[in-house]
Amino acid sequence: MHRMYLKDDLVVFWDSEKCYHSRRCVGSSTKIFDPLRRPWIDLSQGDMPEIWQAVSCCPSGALTCAYTHGIDVRFEEDSHRAAGYDGDKQIGVCLYREGEDSWSIVSTRVDPAYGGKGIAKRLVYAVTEAAEKRKQNVIPICSYAVKVLEK
Ligand code: SF4
Repeated sequence: MHRMYLKDDLVVFWDSEKCYHSRRCVGSSTKIFDPLRRPWIDLSQGDMPEIWQAVSCCPSGALTCAYTHGIDVRFEEDSHRAAGYDGDKQIGVCLYREGEDSWSIVSTRVDPAYGGKGIAKRLVYAVTEAAEKRKQNVIPICSYAVKVLEK
């Protein structure tokens, strides 16, 4: 399972396949991380230092984070994509193809002027999260999606 959580200008990524339930994040903040709650991560329950502390103490790499840099990432099902926008300008896209019970991520691109800001990862997560919520398997085909989703 892959999920993104947003608070102000911070995005936290959680990859359940990397999580080995050390519970260090829970020990860091029982308000933000509650394994009995759904969703179990609620960034509104903590402040930025607490969130940073929790992410940085995760030993597995299951929790990571990035700043939004003011870029809005939207899942656009009708277009079979997630897209990133700087205002009205589209600056990145992650495209998928629908199969019978799977979505294949075929291309992820970000304008090089916006590189290194975690936007491509957000795009891949947006598609993956949408697929998982629809009970679709995700097949990463483009090399970037393979890298982001590798176990
Ligand atoms: S600290 Fe990381 S590995 Fe441990 S439970 Fe939290 S997310 Fe999972």
